[in-house]
Amino acid sequence: MLGEGGHTANFSAVTTEKIIDSEKKQPKVRKKLPVVNKDFQLEKYSWHTLRRIVHLLCFLVFVTLPFFNLMRFDIPRQRFYFAGFEFWINEFATIFFSMLFLMFVIAAASMLYGRIYCGYLCPQMIFSEASINLEEKVKTFINKNFAKYSIDARNWMNRVAVYTVLGIASVFLAFVFISYFIEPHDLFWRLMSFDLVTVGGIAGAVITLITFADFAFLRQKFCTTICPYGYLQGILGDDNTLVVHYRDPEKICVECKKCVRVCHMDIDIRNSPYQIECIHCGECVDACKLIMGKFGKESLIQYAWGENGEVLGDKKAKWFQRIGLRDAKRFAVFAIIFIYAIALFTAFTMRHSVMVTVAPNRATLYRIGDDNRVYNTFRMTLANRGKNDSTVSLSIANLPDAKFTLPSNEISLKAGESVQQEFEISVPAKSLPTEVNHFEIISVATPENTTDKFEETFIMPLEKENK
Ligand code: SF4
Ligand code: SF4
Repeated sequence: MLGEGGHTANFSAVTTEKIIDSEKKQPKVRKKLPVVNKDFQLEKYSWHTLRRIVHLLCFLVFVTLPFFNLMRFDIPRQRFYFAGFEFWINEFATIFFSMLFLMFVIAAASMLYGRIYCGYLCPQMIFSEASINLEEKVKTFINKNFAKYSIDARNWMNRVAVYTVLGIASVFLAFVFISYFIEPHDLFWRLMSFDLVTVGGIAGAVITLITFADFAFLRQKFCTTICPYGYLQGILGDDNTLVVHYRDPEKICVECKKCVRVCHMDIDIRNSPYQIECIHCGECVDACKLIMGKFGKESLIQYAWGENGEVLGDKKAKWFQRIGLRDAKRFAVFAIIFIYAIALFTAFTMRHSVMVTVAPNRATLYRIGDDNRVYNTFRMTLANRGKNDSTVSLSIANLPDAKFTLPSNEISLKAGESVQQEFEISVPAKSLPTEVNHFEIISVATPENTTDKFEETFIMPLEKENK
């Protein structure tokens, strides 16, 4: 049963051995069920089919994102590509808040839907299951077509075939993974030149080996031994979080153990819905549905909103409860995510492709030139983050008779170019009434004609110095 403090304690408290021991002491009394439809089949869209479709989509997304600059931390270029935007390293705040948003969404999804990310979206899980399926298919093929050879010979054939395919797949997956950090064309030519000397080449070789070892040997053990997200889930979930739950009030389980056999995490969900290994994939839901369907009964294993909540999709629940918004905390989280998303989107759209910053250099407050003008020094940084060349025009407002010392008030910037430059602004001595004068520097950047205004101060000599 779930304690008052939520189910966090259950994750650590549940051990399969203990439960089996206690069950051994109390023999179960099962009802005998008549078979009513031995040809019962799952409907077209079982959880298994849904997972396969989602896995395929995730694989396509995983492969596509870095190639179309939809997501990449480009380390050599010091750029972050996200959703078609190219951020420079000096826009760290936007990058940081984008990453924070993604983490927040994953944490909120875990609170509402449990380990749906692990079961449906995680690349590690997708490739682990793919490698298991591959191994099974290769084994079946070899046993069928090379039946005249000894078992040892077939085992060797099986191993060589599986490791060869996994080796090729590892090179490809490592290539895609590293493309999240190095531009793919650049990476391709490094690969072609068998670069094992530079940092990129060494990283590529190491990641390929790790990927191979992971998918050939570690597989789902990674989820229960290395990945911290499964443990984190114990903190994020509560009594209303979606879980995979076994309920058998009529005591009609036929002990076929199909739910155990299909589980890639090697657990028996009947022991508890809060086992840390469970990734909420729903394979056991389908398995039990197939078995109990033959007896004209519903699956004993279902997705449910917590240990005591209704099953997923229960028509009696209100629409917002059916999508997981089941208490005030969840509404608050949803509202925060919504506001955060709008703020982030607004920040993205307000971003100018040409960045202009101007700041005073106060190492020297002012200087008086031979031309009897007073000079103040400023520093500007221009960065053209767009794909087209740009021209930045500077002008001064609210500072009478002011002049730039720049050769031209129009500065040309090629696409991707950045410039840092010091310049002076001068006014005739005694032309301004006070020591500190407020004025504006205005920049207009083509091709978007974006305007930035910088509130600055111009420092004049004190009255006595002016005499
Ligand atoms: S117990 Fe069921 S839902 Fe959990 S990992 Fe195993 S098959 Fe998936
Ligand atoms: S698949 Fe269903 S009927 Fe079979 S052992 Fe599991 S819970 Fe019982």
